[in-house]
Amino acid sequence: MCLRLHRPGEMPHGRLRHDGSAAETTAERRRSDRTPTLTTMGVNAPGLDVATMSSRLGRLRAAAEAADVGAVVVTPGSDLRYLIGVGGSSFERLTALVVPAASDAPVVFVSPALEFAGLGDVPLADLGVEVRTWVDGDDPYRLALAGRSPGRVAVSDMTPALHTLCLRDAGAGEPVLAGPIIRELRMRKDAAELEQLRLAGAAIDRVHARVAQLLRPSRTEAEVAADIARAIVEEGHEAAEFVIVGSGPNGASPHHSVSDRVIASGEVVVVDIGGPLASGYNSDSTRTYAVGEPSAEVMDAYAALQSAQQAAVDAVAPGVSCEAVDAAARAVLAEAGLAEHFIHRTGHGIGLDVHEEPYIVSGNGLALETGMAFSIEPGVYLSGRWGARIEDIVAVTAAGVESFNNRPHDLVVV
Ligand code: ZN
Ligand code: ZN
Ligand code: ZN
Repeated sequence: MCLRLHRPGEMPHGRLRHDGSAAETTAERRRSDRTPTLTTMGVNAPGLDVATMSSRLGRLRAAAEAADVGAVVVTPGSDLRYLIGVGGSSFERLTALVVPAASDAPVVFVSPALEFAGLGDVPLADLGVEVRTWVDGDDPYRLALAGRSPGRVAVSDMTPALHTLCLRDAGAGEPVLAGPIIRELRMRKDAAELEQLRLAGAAIDRVHARVAQLLRPSRTEAEVAADIARAIVEEGHEAAEFVIVGSGPNGASPHHSVSDRVIASGEVVVVDIGGPLASGYNSDSTRTYAVGEPSAEVMDAYAALQSAQQAAVDAVAPGVSCEAVDAAARAVLAEAGLAEHFIHRTGHGIGLDVHEEPYIVSGNGLALETGMAFSIEPGVYLSGRWGARIEDIVAVTAAGVESFNNRPHDLVVV
């Protein structure tokens, strides 16, 4: 018997690596405001109609079959939002969509009765999804598996251990991760998803266009970040999910968030910002600013960085491997003697999560396909002194590449 006493972690998943304090402010606010109900916000995402949901469920069945998995158990998070437009987070009471590989077995939606009432107009009946609600005292894990022995079950990557282990105890066998199965769907964006990423890119470009006015000597990183967070929402995002303002030595730490450090004249400032639109699709873009005239050392390194970023973008085309794109950026920086100062992968996929597949990293031989969208964000980091990064979101097209961020790449001197 599984005890359901604790509320599992509620970090909005996929956002863990962007832990700016402005981001934390947003996340904290969401956590404290959150009532334990599901939402249907994703249902209104453009393009997410019954036909699209049905197609995604069908493709997930096929992917499960190909992965030799009996069923995929999807709990609230971006996977569930992607499949049927249900937003929200996992709590101690099990909510799950159970998608069997066998096409003659029904897709089942298990939900606490008290939360199902608030689910609104998710077209579960139109999708042929069988609803099984439960009340406190029932065993939702047995309900999720009822009447079937699904064999090996895959669970969403961010499913709380509470639910995963209880499913195992209810007879689901040793669970495996669903990420590698669902990524086969999510990593190739359809036209409506690409349009959302395009709109998100344009929105964050409008924010970067305002950053130069906000950066002044004697202001703190936190003051600038607060203004940027407001601008992110004003320019059409649902929230400022993360705001990185890394001045001087803080810029040499790629995931520095913000601090009370006062920005001084002559310093380089890395500004990496983004957030979701109402549809759930995210922006993520970095530009580097110089407050006052930068040194010759900065100008030289920045010129190499700009070439490296361009080389990686130019390398993007269908059939090219992810690691070849990473190598294109790395080669330029190595040529400039900066190889050891580029201390992270070149990019990450983006969509309903800020960081998702495909990862543009050494060792990833995955071949790019049209519809894949990801960041190209090389950086140079001079420990204890300064850093710089240029980040655009791009998508693979039949012709090669389309950039969703289109602000100039030059070092912005303010
Ligand atoms: Zn990042
Ligand atoms: Zn970023
Ligand atoms: Zn990024």
